[in-house]
Amino acid sequence: MTASVETHEFQSEARQLLQLMIHSIYSNKDIFLRELVSNASDALDKLRLETYRDKELQADTSDLHIEILIDSEARTLTVRDNGIGMSRDDVVNLLGTIAKSGTAEFLRKLKESQDSAASRDLIGQFGVGFYSSFMVADKVTVLTRRAGTDEGVRWESTGEGTYTIEPATDVADGTSVILYLKPADAEDHLFDYAAPSKIREIVKRYSDFITWPVRMLGEASGDEAPAFETVNSMKALWARAKDEVTDDEYHEFYKHISHDWNNPAETIRVQAEGTFEYQALLFLPSQAPLDLFMRERKRGVQLYVRRVFIMDDCDALMPEYLRFVKGVVDAQDLSLNMSREILQQDRQIQLIRKRLVKRVLSTVKTMMTDNEERYATFWKEFGRAVKEGLLDDFDNREAILEICSFDSTHEPEKPTTLRQYVERMKDGQEHIYYLTGESRQSIERSPHLEAFQAKGYEVLVLTDPIDEMWVDSVNGFDGKQFQSIAKGQVDLETEEERKTAEEQREGFADLLTWMTGTLSESVKEVRLSSRLTTSPACIVGDEHDLTPTLEKMYRAMGQELPPIKRILELNPTHPLVTGLRTAQSERKDDADLAESVELLYGMALLAEGGELTDPARFNTLLATRLEKTL
Ligand code: ADP
Ligand code: MG
Repeated sequence: MTASVETHEFQSEARQLLQLMIHSIYSNKDIFLRELVSNASDALDKLRLETYRDKELQADTSDLHIEILIDSEARTLTVRDNGIGMSRDDVVNLLGTIAKSGTAEFLRKLKESQDSAASRDLIGQFGVGFYSSFMVADKVTVLTRRAGTDEGVRWESTGEGTYTIEPATDVADGTSVILYLKPADAEDHLFDYAAPSKIREIVKRYSDFITWPVRMLGEASGDEAPAFETVNSMKALWARAKDEVTDDEYHEFYKHISHDWNNPAETIRVQAEGTFEYQALLFLPSQAPLDLFMRERKRGVQLYVRRVFIMDDCDALMPEYLRFVKGVVDAQDLSLNMSREILQQDRQIQLIRKRLVKRVLSTVKTMMTDNEERYATFWKEFGRAVKEGLLDDFDNREAILEICSFDSTHEPEKPTTLRQYVERMKDGQEHIYYLTGESRQSIERSPHLEAFQAKGYEVLVLTDPIDEMWVDSVNGFDGKQFQSIAKGQVDLETEEERKTAEEQREGFADLLTWMTGTLSESVKEVRLSSRLTTSPACIVGDEHDLTPTLEKMYRAMGQELPPIKRILELNPTHPLVTGLRTAQSERKDDADLAESVELLYGMALLAEGGELTDPARFNTLLATRLEKTL
């Protein structure tokens, strides 16, 4: 049979991760067992589900279980299950490559982070499942057979670049993973993984809630041969009384279902009794997964019906904008064979979802007051996703706005909630002011802010692309409307100020008409501004026009748009503007003057971080101007 042994190379991403595992930058090696038991448990879930769906499938599901066998002399540890198993192709694809989305991103970050503590954190965030075996073993053999077939497969590797794969006969149902353990005295081991008592301890600690029996051989007593005993309690955590479950247990369960190696930030339990009964156990992760904004992303809530696992990634239970929430929902009265499509329509499911969404939002709200720091981290990790809800989830808009926070001009490094903003609003301030843009820096330098700053009005600094979208469709918060300071007319003046302003504005009519004509290719109007104190000019949008960022986004998505012209506003108190007025009244339509106007427009564009249509021309004009001053 040796002729059929093939040697394959690991995919390069997989090779890099294996190197990390072999050289073991992750300190808690015990978790390799959690990963193997977790995979075995998934394999049993899958087999049960598959036999349910495919009546033809020949598989024995009468005693689904996991076994852990230790051979102290040979120093091997075997985790076996009689679950779904793998075909040859499965083995190559699943054990030889990393299919996880975000792997490339992860490896790039890993390369960038030179220090090992940061790498460890990254590994923790990424989680490497099966490969964690190589933290404790020099060699791993997998024997497996896909349920319903009779072609067994044997896979073997030392984790160093290649693996072998060959057909195998007489392979038992499911999968056996055999670890050839590193020497007991390997200096970085907490203890010897060939010691049965220690292995039991680890199973209890990390895998107690697994709903399938995890069996190990007991001690031999007298002349009786040792018998298998179940090591885990198999109790579903969500079915146990709340105060009976420790945080550690919740955390390990979270790691099992989420494949995350970090603890969650929040644990949420929902127990509904009455006409239709269900239990939910949800988690808010502490870090965003790498695929949060990728197309292939999944949602994280599993559906169980009366303790039987039905499906992963149950999108009917959690809206898209809360896709980072992990957990399980176990419903009493659903049918076991519901398709995703039917679930979407199911009234019970819709009611469950409604309640869960409210609980998630209220949990975050409580976190804002109870643990500000945790909330800040949560928002940094997931805020961008949550804000999508402002567009998608009309019913919960107010509740979502309550838990949002934004950068603001109030305190540079500290985001503010809307509630805090409203509390700080000045007498006479009617709106919640904001400015959108590509970066905080460009916004802070924007001339639009001048009058607001002079008045002491706070302005929200919105830099996420999604912000551009929701501010347009959300009316307001707490009865106050959102108002862009770069759009429409602003009205910041008191009665008295308005009078002085009117006087100042007299006599500009000719200049404005002439400038509007001169710049007609670029702007739709030139008018006087009340938002400027120090800059000569700025550019603003019409009340209902797209902002430049949105315009860019739509164009990037391939949408055809007519060119959007904006409005040039002039500061009537600025010497450059009053000078222009005088010059224009004397010289009328002078080419030199027209160039000055063009320069002024270019400056206003640059001031808001915009791009000149013809930078070369701008430079030439400016250079000529400078020459004349010398
Ligand atoms: P993850 O569990 O996050 O998908 P792993 O590295 O732990 O990643 O496992 C990779 C894949 O290998 C699993 O998704 C599963 O398809 C397959 N696999 C691992 N162990 C088993 C097993 N005992 N039985 C069947 N398939 C398995
Ligand atoms: Mg796994």
